[in-house]
Amino acid sequence: MKKRLWRDFLILLVLFLGVWIFFVYFPIVDSDEVKVTYKYKENEIKQKLIELMDFKQADSDTTQLLRSLGELKHLVSDKDVEYELYYSDNREINAYALPGNIIVLNRGIILECDTPEELIGVIAHELGHLKMNHHSDQLITTLSIELLLVGSGSTASEVTKILTQNAFSREMETEADDYAIKKMKELGISPNYLAKLFKKMYKRSDMIPEFLNSHPGMNERISKFSKFPYEESKLTYTFDWLQVKNSL
Ligand SMILES: [Zn+2]
Repeated sequence: MKKRLWRDFLILLVLFLGVWIFFVYFPIVDSDEVKVTYKYKENEIKQKLIELMDFKQADSDTTQLLRSLGELKHLVSDKDVEYELYYSDNREINAYALPGNIIVLNRGIILECDTPEELIGVIAHELGHLKMNHHSDQLITTLSIELLLVGSGSTASEVTKILTQNAFSREMETEADDYAIKKMKELGISPNYLAKLFKKMYKRSDMIPEFLNSHPGMNERISKFSKFPYEESKLTYTFDWLQVKNSL
């Protein structure tokens, strides 16, 4: 009798150990954990985006354009945000603030700016988004999944679609605008320069760039920036803006 008890006990022990070892080696992961493993860190997203989208970093000495953008980047700085500025050879009139603290300017938006001051306003607006951490978890997850699929079907144009469709909330846009106004004033640039850019773009109905999306309303934004009287900026640059644009 005693012997049988021992045997049953040993069988149970072996079974228990077997099940335990099985789950150690083949864990059942809940869906939340799966999501985490598919989420890149912001810096990884940045690196993958730069590579896939062929973004060129401002400040590098290779072209007049990149040197000029580097000069603008140094003007628009914030002690709390270390960001990098990039150029994208994309004709769409748009600019993006992206995970990993990068700001990307499309060829389209640069060509739309009659003065460097207008572009400084755009950079300042995007920097506002970075400073206030406006990136949604959802954007980071969506980008992670799309970037993970690069090589097996996902393409640069699909990633562009995600970037273009990403919309910040009305409150976030207002915050980024207020930040841009503050930054421009600090630099001695009238925020009216951005009103000029907005007005030009308002006439074009074919595109709604990130910083001009439907909320807050375009008219509301134009009047907000128009309140500041236009004064010509006294900033000087080492480049000729028209020449830079002609090089594009
Ligand atoms: Zn914005």
